[in-house]
Amino acid sequence: MVDCNQICFIGAGSMAEALLSGLLNNTPTSAKHIHVINRQNQNRIQYLSKKYGIISPKDNQAAIKQADTVILAVKPKDITHALDQWGMYFHPGQRIISVVAGISIPFIENRLTTRIPVIRAMPNTSCAVAQSATALCTGTHASEKDLDTAFQIFSSIGTVVVVDEKDMDAVTGLSGSGPAYIYYLVEALEQAGIQAGLTPSIARHLTLQTLAGAAHMLMETKEEPAELRRKVTSPGGTTMAGLETLAQHHFQKSLIHAVQKAKQRSKELG
Ligand code: NAD
Repeated sequence: MVDCNQICFIGAGSMAEALLSGLLNNTPTSAKHIHVINRQNQNRIQYLSKKYGIISPKDNQAAIKQADTVILAVKPKDITHALDQWGMYFHPGQRIISVVAGISIPFIENRLTTRIPVIRAMPNTSCAVAQSATALCTGTHASEKDLDTAFQIFSSIGTVVVVDEKDMDAVTGLSGSGPAYIYYLVEALEQAGIQAGLTPSIARHLTLQTLAGAAHMLMETKEEPAELRRKVTSPGGTTMAGLETLAQHHFQKSLIHAVQKAKQRSKELG
């Protein structure tokens, strides 16, 4: 069991489902300790109740009041309305965890009438397969215990780091948008394999396993990426020919610019 007794999700979308699934599959948390409330679409609640056995609350206000952890999982455009609708039932005996992208902790704290611990989380879409890279940051009233509870919750869907809130735009640019950069890379490698004469299915298989293998090498050997790269690059060899072409086309610079631009966009939207 994660170190809290009752969790209430506000918003029953894909993020809530990923967390639900992670908590139930990867921690001893029981479905009877989880409530989910949603706006309008009760089919969604029925689907989650049926699939995960979680409770569909008869009384949403009571579900929020009883929770010691409330997870805000609505879209950014809906956060103001959600806080106005449900914020009056929050109380200082609980903690609020927000996964709402681009919404700052002061924004949430300022809309609440009491001093409640608030934690902000920035997971990424790989949460759907319990492989998220999540960053957490804490608000004015959050304690070590609040952070620890959030850490346990998000560890159920991947790995977790703690950052200052000022770094959340950089997190968004790197790991928030990062899965899309990797998908883009995979598309290009697959295309390259096909153009070099491989079938699409062989090109896909080789690309994905190469990606997974390189990620495992980095994580398991803990060697520097530059060192691993040097080890597989013989002077005058095939890998060197490929890498030199990537350098000529400013491969690294392109990625650095991509992260900077995404960070800047996150700042503008926030
Ligand atoms: P979603 O649209 O799938 O789900 C949001 C749900 O919130 C909807 O079912 C909607 O009916 C409900 N909702 C809206 N207003 C409500 C209200 N006032 N009270 C109760 N329920 C309400 O969105 P999602 O993909 O689950 O994303 C949720 C949040 O998580 C977003 O802010 C997003 O930025 C963040 N996030 C998502 C991911 C991801 O991988 N999906 C990754 C990082 C961050």
